[in-house]
Amino acid sequence: MTTLISVDTALSHVLERALPVQEAESADLHHALGRILSEDLQVRHDIPSADNTSVDGYALRLADLQDDRRLPVSARIPAGTAPEPLAPGTCARIFTGANIPEGADTVVMQEDVEVEDELRRFPEGLRAGDNIRRRGQDLRQGDTALHAGTRLRAQELGLIASLGLAQVPVWRRLRVAVLTTGDELVEPGQPLPPGRIFNTNRFTLQAMLQQLDCEVVVNQTVPDNHDATAIALKRAARQADLIVTSGGVSVGEEDHLRAVLEQHGQLSLWRMAMKPGKPLAFGAIGNIPVLGLPGNPASVLVTGLIICVPFIRRCQGDVRPAPRPIRLPAAFSVDKASIRREYVRARQELRDGHAVVSCYPNQSSGLLSSACWADGLAVVPENQTLAEGDMIDYYPFSDLLG
Ligand code: AMP
Ligand code: MG
Repeated sequence: MTTLISVDTALSHVLERALPVQEAESADLHHALGRILSEDLQVRHDIPSADNTSVDGYALRLADLQDDRRLPVSARIPAGTAPEPLAPGTCARIFTGANIPEGADTVVMQEDVEVEDELRRFPEGLRAGDNIRRRGQDLRQGDTALHAGTRLRAQELGLIASLGLAQVPVWRRLRVAVLTTGDELVEPGQPLPPGRIFNTNRFTLQAMLQQLDCEVVVNQTVPDNHDATAIALKRAARQADLIVTSGGVSVGEEDHLRAVLEQHGQLSLWRMAMKPGKPLAFGAIGNIPVLGLPGNPASVLVTGLIICVPFIRRCQGDVRPAPRPIRLPAAFSVDKASIRREYVRARQELRDGHAVVSCYPNQSSGLLSSACWADGLAVVPENQTLAEGDMIDYYPFSDLLG
């Protein structure tokens, strides 16, 4: 297993092994942000449930307007009331959102109406249906409002509320264990002895998982030791649907993860033609998938976004299609072709009023400042050089982890 696997092959390999969570539960609408719908939601009543006005003004029957274009006011209809039918030859004062009274067919904005004591004078050029929001124009009874597999954002929560639902059927949250490996790791807040580094990856990974609404059931640091790695993996496998690790997947003597997977579970993929992120490993302990991300902090971010996030979405039952890149001219060049596909920490900038993709000058896999400068990843395809101005695929971070 020493050849490098292409990013596309690696991604298909892991996606084929994703087991979507199959347990549904009911979530309170107040706490359903980011959850994944487990059923289609049907519309039980037309929305809106009745014709109503989109403006403050006057409701009238167009045919009632005579040459003087004046009508007396016979009713006042605030939103939230059930209006009486409109008396013939009159108009009704009406407020945004209020139901149109039976018999009225037009609403005129108050700004267009002249007040003449008890009468109201209406302008020329009115059309029946003006300023009326029709019953069912948002959704009709029997429509599917939202499909299973939809991740609930602010707008979906609002729509579900408009259906009148206080509870929503969702897949249970994915339980994920995070294991960061390395004898050198020290937790932030602790003193830093010589030769040690702060553990950054556990925070990067935890944040990504939180953003995907996973339940992080384990977040543990594991020493560089075969037995400790085996124990930690087996324990995590009892608690989680998925284990994500960082570090320990390279070829050094202190890299134990692969050996533990081979000995206590299985290793089905190792080493991708990807930069950063070459040593990525994938396998399982029992039937619990293990995604072994590299150790370098920028590699963790990039492999996390490109491999781990799509895998997690699949496990969550999220049916959103993969993000599509934006094509933009590169504001940088790559002189040496590589057999590895490079994901460059980059951002959109304007040059002479046109959007281009700039890359951070130092793409070392150890640098996280590059990723903080960036707002996305640009892709330099394998076996290609790149000249300034060439079109390049660019993925905003917000699309990769939205
Ligand atoms: P490894 O693959 O374990 O050899 O790690 C590669 C590089 O990433 C080494 O320089 C590690 O010190 C560094 N590294 C590994 N894990 C972490 C972590 N959790 N936080 C910060 N750096 C790490
Ligand atoms: Mg290590």
